Amino acid sequence: MTNQNPVPEPAILDAVPAPGGTCQLYHSREGGRPQRCDNDADWLFVYTGSVDPAIQTPKNALACHTCFTPPEHVREGSDAVGVDLATDGGQTSPSLRHRDVIRCKRDGEEVAVYNRINLTQPAMIRGLPTVERFETQIGAGDSQTPPEAITHWVAHVLTDEFGITRDGLATHDIAVVDPTAPEVTVL
Ligand SMILES: [Zn+2]
Repeated sequence: MTNQNPVPEPAILDAVPAPGGTCQLYHSREGGRPQRCDNDADWLFVYTGSVDPAIQTPKNALACHTCFTPPEHVREGSDAVGVDLATDGGQTSPSLRHRDVIRCKRDGEEVAVYNRINLTQPAMIRGLPTVERFETQIGAGDSQTPPEAITHWVAHVLTDEFGITRDGLATHDIAVVDPTAPEVTVL
């Protein structure tokens, strides 16, 4: 992150070493458009989501050593690899996000939150044209058994790619849990 442009930079709130992802920052090229870095990530950092101090929405991003140097005030104690930062949930430490099942405690109850599911969406299509849809089956991991809960990451994909909303998940009795939320403890 260089300071060559006049755009104000957001404040860096926290940073932890986070190998395993891909740098999400952009390089400015002479006379060209900024280009995505795509180096292997070394850091996950949390930043203020807006340069307007009235808006306090932390966000996070992955970055490599070339693009990002943690500022002095967050460098102490930043050797805790795998620590999950409190953020907007847009990104988290790869160690958590790459797990298939995350056991959590929420409202005093243990719940298995699936971060990997399988989806069967049967439909009969005729050239008349008619489309007959049958009930969507959602299974935990590779199994046929529906998950008790899924991560908000999986829920986002279900909405974006398959049009299955949280209300739709509720009719399947599937809860959506954000393992990075303050009220949720990862066991
Ligand atoms: Zn980079």
